Amino acid sequence: CGIVGYVGRRDALEIVVEALRRMEYRGYDSAGVAILDGHGGTAVEKRAGRLENLDKQLATVGRDQFAGTTGMGHTRWATHGRPTDRNAHPHRSRDGRVAVVHNGIIENYAPLRAEVEAAGVEFSSDTDTEVAVHMLDLEYSSGPHAGDFVASAYAVLGRLEGAFTLVFTHSDHPDTIVAARRSTPLVVGVGDGEMFVGSDVAAFIDHTRDAVELGHDEVVVITADSYTITGFDGSPRTGTPFHIDWDL
Ligand code: GLU
Repeated sequence: CGIVGYVGRRDALEIVVEALRRMEYRGYDSAGVAILDGHGGTAVEKRAGRLENLDKQLATVGRDQFAGTTGMGHTRWATHGRPTDRNAHPHRSRDGRVAVVHNGIIENYAPLRAEVEAAGVEFSSDTDTEVAVHMLDLEYSSGPHAGDFVASAYAVLGRLEGAFTLVFTHSDHPDTIVAARRSTPLVVGVGDGEMFVGSDVAAFIDHTRDAVELGHDEVVVITADSYTITGFDGSPRTGTPFHIDWDL
């Protein structure tokens, strides 16, 4: 399983799909992508099975439907819900504007799901993951930080228990990606006018060799030109910068 996120000035789709290919060695049962068009839309495609299935589907829909310079990709190793198209990531909010990819497990998803369902939300998958995207949607629409994507993401992340890597996007904020880790790995790739997040350096080694490894329980907010690392409580952190001087 693997995760990649990209914010930059180049077409995100090719970069994201290539990153997923680079991470195939980790094993997976499904794959998916989300690309933000920069004009309030997020296009999502996901398929159970090999990356080729996703590739074929992208060709059928038309790759031009996935134009945009911000995006993320996911390969899944199912833990909650069978490996189907429906359970594949990214998952989206009801209005399609919030998207999430996730590796690992959200241990306390059941009570959170009950809470979100009580707010009238119908789920469209059997994953532990989907609850996070609806929580962010509710937080962003009516929480104390309504309209603030980053602050709303922190509010949600603070409530999630388990071991996971998570990446959030929001159609209204196409220049920003929020990513977080509890236990499982997360690395930032620092490019020239572009920024990456990945489960490992394979996600971006073709594009940059400057990387920053996040510590346990850390969050990073990336834009094309910046990355900001904090704890889940927002306290400043630095991560561990390193240079990739080996070849994969
Ligand atoms: N627990 C999530 C799921 O089953 C993510 C699994 C993963 O790819 O690590 O969908």
